[in-house]
Amino acid sequence: TLVLGIETSCDETAAALVRRHPDGRGEIVSNIVRSQIEEHRAFGGVVPELAARAHVVHLDAIISRALEDARMDLSQVDAIAATAGPGLIGGVLVGLTTGKALAAASGKPLVAVNHLEGHALTARLTDGVKFPYLMLLVSGGHSQIVLVRGVGDYERWGSTIDDALGEAFDKAAKLLGLGYPGGPEVEKAAQKGEAKRFDLPRPLLREKRLDFSFSGLKTALRLAAESVAPVTDTDIADLCASFQAAVTDIVAVRSKQALERFAAEYPDSAPTYVVAGGGAANAAIGGALRDVAARTGTHLVVPPPALCTDNGAMIAWAGAERFALGLTDGFDVAARPRWPLDELGRGAA
Ligand code: ATP
Ligand code: MG
Ligand code: FE
Repeated sequence: TLVLGIETSCDETAAALVRRHPDGRGEIVSNIVRSQIEEHRAFGGVVPELAARAHVVHLDAIISRALEDARMDLSQVDAIAATAGPGLIGGVLVGLTTGKALAAASGKPLVAVNHLEGHALTARLTDGVKFPYLMLLVSGGHSQIVLVRGVGDYERWGSTIDDALGEAFDKAAKLLGLGYPGGPEVEKAAQKGEAKRFDLPRPLLREKRLDFSFSGLKTALRLAAESVAPVTDTDIADLCASFQAAVTDIVAVRSKQALERFAAEYPDSAPTYVVAGGGAANAAIGGALRDVAARTGTHLVVPPPALCTDNGAMIAWAGAERFALGLTDGFDVAARPRWPLDELGRGAA
């Protein structure tokens, strides 16, 4: 089966064609992403209204390019998948409504996809990962550890009680006068820095629950910066290195705890740990996760960066997996700004 996927929930306008072979193998036929980073850079973050307008302007052309790249037209597609949430509601409406219109015009079935399920199932597209597995999602809007039991079958073990990991990097960068998006800027500055110079907190780490908290860390970073003001380039490098080390510690410790719980619940299957979201691009975090994986006998799967951040292929693939189970949606399906994975079930509405 061949599925067209549409993604517009945040700041990338994306469309892709993905094939699901009868043996369950996935294949990306085309994958077009237009990032809106330039539109939002001046504001230091995603402006929802600007994002929605940019999706309106660009989505049609992005879908056409995805079809052209594949040398195909809509008649060859078996289903149309679009993100129905969670995300910025204006953008979600643009993509979902476009998906409905294309489905209505072509007579093809519609699959409303939960964006987080797209992230969760990507490792099955790239690496053929088998259920059950654990997913760490660390993006600009989410920080979660989720048990993936099957399509539509998720259990959230932990999530952030305040900022998401990528958001914490973005705020840290803003505070230190670095550019946007903050993750890559902080990582670059941290390379020349001394991580031991500032003793920043690791919130929640002593607690057993698998939740994250990054907002106290951000406050501590601000106080540390004020304590050495006016800050020099060396100070900034040391602040970034200390911040990144704290975040990395938090992610590593939580991951180890989650993998231990997974091993206790599934003693017969070697744990698989799938990482998704822009935070997966951070080399320090990646290195720490490889250490944890090695120490716990875990199979670590980190899809390529372009498939870890928002894209159309992940939505097309999640759509293909749902379609294979006969899960399609009516045109009355609603866009949902909030839509936790563990409320998903096997039907989108
Ligand atoms: P979602 O709606 O799924 O949360 P998003 O578009 O906000 O999506 P992604 O596109 O997955 O998130 O990732 C962007 C985030 O990842 C930004 O917050 C960015 O700062 C962060 N990020 C990117 N590269 C790095 C890095 N090298 N280190 C740390 N964070 C990074
Ligand atoms: Mg993004
Ligand atoms: Fe995302």
